[in-house]
Amino acid sequence: MAGHVFGRSSAAMPTAVSGEGCYIRDAEGRSYLDGSGGAAVSCLGHSDPDVRAAIHDQLDRIAFAHTGFFTSEAAEGLADLLIANAPEGVEKVYLLSGGSEAVEAAIKLARQYFLETGEPERHRVIARRQSYHGNTLGALAAGGNAWRREKYAPLLVETSHIAPCYEYRLREDGESAEDYGLRAANELEDEIARLGPETVMAFIAEPVVGATAGAVPAVRGYFKRIREICDRHGILLILDEVMCGMGRTGTLFACEQDGISPDIVTVAKGLGAGYMPIGAMLCSGRIFGAIEGGSGSFQHGHTYHGHPLAAAAGHAVLSAILGRELLPQVRQRGEALTDRLQATFGQHPHVGDIRGRGLFRGIELVADRGTKAPFDPELKLHAKVKKAALAEGLICYPAGGTIDGKHGDHILLAPPFIISEDQIGELTDKLSRAIDAALA
Ligand code: PMP
Repeated sequence: MAGHVFGRSSAAMPTAVSGEGCYIRDAEGRSYLDGSGGAAVSCLGHSDPDVRAAIHDQLDRIAFAHTGFFTSEAAEGLADLLIANAPEGVEKVYLLSGGSEAVEAAIKLARQYFLETGEPERHRVIARRQSYHGNTLGALAAGGNAWRREKYAPLLVETSHIAPCYEYRLREDGESAEDYGLRAANELEDEIARLGPETVMAFIAEPVVGATAGAVPAVRGYFKRIREICDRHGILLILDEVMCGMGRTGTLFACEQDGISPDIVTVAKGLGAGYMPIGAMLCSGRIFGAIEGGSGSFQHGHTYHGHPLAAAAGHAVLSAILGRELLPQVRQRGEALTDRLQATFGQHPHVGDIRGRGLFRGIELVADRGTKAPFDPELKLHAKVKKAALAEGLICYPAGGTIDGKHGDHILLAPPFIISEDQIGELTDKLSRAIDAALA
């Protein structure tokens, strides 16, 4: 390969040429088990016949009609299906081309809502430390990863950050996970008081933290408390389900398991399942109603938003997740994956934590299993595991800086929902060899 592609792809990487089910094949004929669906994207696996047929069918009819002039059957059909299965109170869908775009739109919608309801001073966003909400400037402003943000400051959206929902290192002596969760949620109350409730428009969080922490769910009660604090201060709750949504945790929306409904929720990766770039921002009838009854329209738009091909793919993916009863399968295979991970790594001297929900699981690598002390970041252990896993024929999604942006290594697993029990065994065996090779 000539290597003219600019970005993360590099000529030194294998060239992907085909995919089938849970496997990707490269130009040399090597096969890789997709243990992370890329980055929790490929929920149906590769080359799904129904999604391919839906895209071909749409292409044969019409590929593009600008949303300034037309809606499309594909966009309307997808929006209807999303809303029929959305959390309570969520009634409208804005289709976009990915996760960052969906988060940008969510932040702008929150701002417009308060402008139209006569509270223009509400402009601040509160998020959590170590969070990731996307790479475009607004989404980057919301995220709590200091090293990602600092080069681009000052950022357009004024954001401050509170504690992550569950970080076992932050627990005080004798404090239960639940008590820590409530203490972390109460930081939202303190932060609102510090900023002045009349200046805060939204709190944004992932129900299960993906890329930056390795599938860390909120402890029970955390989001109920967050919802209650937001309501008391008239602040909008934005849930970022770009990674954990669309069935990944065993329910279509991850927040269903927390027993709450958001004002705005973003989804992306699993919605297109890798077949098309698509994301969506969904909002409550209350927010939409205020805008419809005010200026009349959301002041936003991209050339490709609501793209018919992407919408057709999203509709086919969602139909497959619901129609093939994949949600119970995610829950069952998720348990099988956890059992295998526990059996393989439960006593491993360098595995400090195994966590997650559904087919969204994380393993934390530690220098010392007893003290949970992290590895020296200079070792870049997570990167070594990724390389060793590729050599084993396994794709997993490791990241560093899990704890404080610098220390902490984890591996995120998010295989296709169609992974078989044998393939779960293959995944854990390959991962075990890769971790051993990286530590050697
Ligand atoms: N939010 C979350 C929680 C994510 O994990 C990501 C992507 N990793 C994004 C937003 C951004 O999505 P995209 O890369 O599609 O822009």
